Amino acid sequence: MEKLFHFDCPREIYTADACVISCFDARFEVAVRKFLKRRGIFLYDQIKIPGAGKSLAAPESEADRDFVLRMVRTSIRLHRPARALLVAHNDCGAYEGIAPEVVAADVLLAAQCLRAHEPSLAVECYFADFDGIYRIG
Ligand SMILES: [Zn+2]
Repeated sequence: MEKLFHFDCPREIYTADACVISCFDARFEVAVRKFLKRRGIFLYDQIKIPGAGKSLAAPESEADRDFVLRMVRTSIRLHRPARALLVAHNDCGAYEGIAPEVVAADVLLAAQCLRAHEPSLAVECYFADFDGIYRIG
């Protein structure tokens, strides 16, 4: 391997403040990061999937749901987060033409699914809009 960039990364294993499941849509990246910081969430395992909780609420195949649940379990095993945050967003490509209320309802379904499979996690539901982050429910 050829070194191309120098940066000192922390070597210590961390305890995550949360496991965050969000979409990979980069438009909401800064808002979500700042929101998490404001909520005291500095170190987190972020699972980025198009549609955020869609793969838990209404997966195209059961394998998708299992894959997401495995990622959450890996986060729990490695970094022991006590809470999980589901963050959907407006104008999501995974929900093309679907009203925000329907997307928000899916987030609640995803939270139910997550609580059923991982009862130790406190699950919180959020919706990122172009003017900020909203709590769902
Ligand atoms: Zn999206």
